[in-house]
Amino acid sequence: MIIEPKVRGFICTTSHPLGCQANVLQQINYVEKQGLATGPKKVLVIGASTGYGLASRIVASFGYRAETIGVFFERAAAGKRTASAGWYNSAAFESEANAKGLYAKSINGDAFSNEIKQQTIDLIKQDWSGGVDLVIYSLASPRRTNPNTGETFNSVLKPIGQAFKNKTVNVMTNEVSEIEIESANEDEINHTVNVMGGDDWALWMNALMEANVLAQNVRTVAYSYVGPELTYPVYRNGTIGRAKEHLEQTAHDLTKTLQARYDGKALVSVNKGLVTQASAAIPVVPLYISLLYSVMKAKGIHEGCIEQIWRLFNNGLYAANSDSLLDAKGRVRIDDWEMRDDVQEEIVKRWQQVTTNNLEQVSDIAGYRQEFYQLFGFDVPGVSYQQDVDADVAIPSIEEQSLV
Ligand code: NAD
Repeated sequence: MIIEPKVRGFICTTSHPLGCQANVLQQINYVEKQGLATGPKKVLVIGASTGYGLASRIVASFGYRAETIGVFFERAAAGKRTASAGWYNSAAFESEANAKGLYAKSINGDAFSNEIKQQTIDLIKQDWSGGVDLVIYSLASPRRTNPNTGETFNSVLKPIGQAFKNKTVNVMTNEVSEIEIESANEDEINHTVNVMGGDDWALWMNALMEANVLAQNVRTVAYSYVGPELTYPVYRNGTIGRAKEHLEQTAHDLTKTLQARYDGKALVSVNKGLVTQASAAIPVVPLYISLLYSVMKAKGIHEGCIEQIWRLFNNGLYAANSDSLLDAKGRVRIDDWEMRDDVQEEIVKRWQQVTTNNLEQVSDIAGYRQEFYQLFGFDVPGVSYQQDVDADVAIPSIEEQSLV
């Protein structure tokens, strides 16, 4: 079939297998160019199919020759519906890993559930002796059902305490407008913390500990965001920020247990704001990111997920001076270039100027839009979108499991 993008709000409901494959190959190529490094050998990535989680899996696999198990929640193609981008990404990732003799298996399902945790533990016990030495936690989801109580929580992206009014952009129409977001109530804060806080991360780590599948010196890393004052009301001081504070507290709590038992560590890495399916959903943030891209590209310091995660592993987690990227709160800061004074001062200047009329000159809205399409495998250079493609692509290890 010929596959075209169908954008609905901040999501594209179709994905292109060849474009997703090209994106994955490009990331692998970047990592292979950096040369082989020494570090983790058995890596579990929870949220491994898109964005920061996919980049983590690629760095672990192709930069460190680690065996990887990836957990994600993606959709296979069915009838006229294409698969989701994360499905195609994972199919391409596994095929390439297999071709290069690298172990890679995937589990598709709700990572918040007890069943998927158990399935993952069973696979680790079956295939990996010696245990897991790195667990990356990179889930981004609008809802979560607590597996022990059955309660379902829905996250919201709202300020806390008072309504917030600021500029925002419609990425598809280039219209800059004012948006006013009502402040969240206590219930909404609680829901968001339950979805995006550290509760599920702790459940995963406790389940892995109880099953005795963690290695000595194990590390676990979850991803967070801080951003500039400009987005504080809707991000860091908003409902999602509360969830991130909970995630950061969870790292401290987990470290106590991991240290005692494995001489291990739980860390939070504060990453750069980037175009991903998760960030596209946050009001105000896409306008900020398109200004950030224009400023960082002009200064020659722009990075995507893969460059960020390579730096996290190589200059942070597995560097000789691995503490050099830590801030006073013990968080790894790979958002250091985003937060540079010269970058932020320029963004504030442009933020005040930006309107619908000058958006193209002042920001990198074109770059933002292209990356948005690329998340779904469209607008990728070198891919011919006129050709007839088979939307039904298998993820090798998942196909194998279904044949057993
Ligand atoms: P993303 O949307 O690209 O990836 C989310 C991943 O979670 C996918 O692999 C998806 O399949 C998986 N997932 C979602 N729900 C699931 C479920 N129920 N079960 C199993 N898998 C599920 O998101 P991202 O932007 O890469 O975000 C990952 C983390 O990085 C988040 O914690 C986010 O807050 C953080 N972060 C993002 C940015 C940014 O600008 N994008 C910046 C800093 C930190």
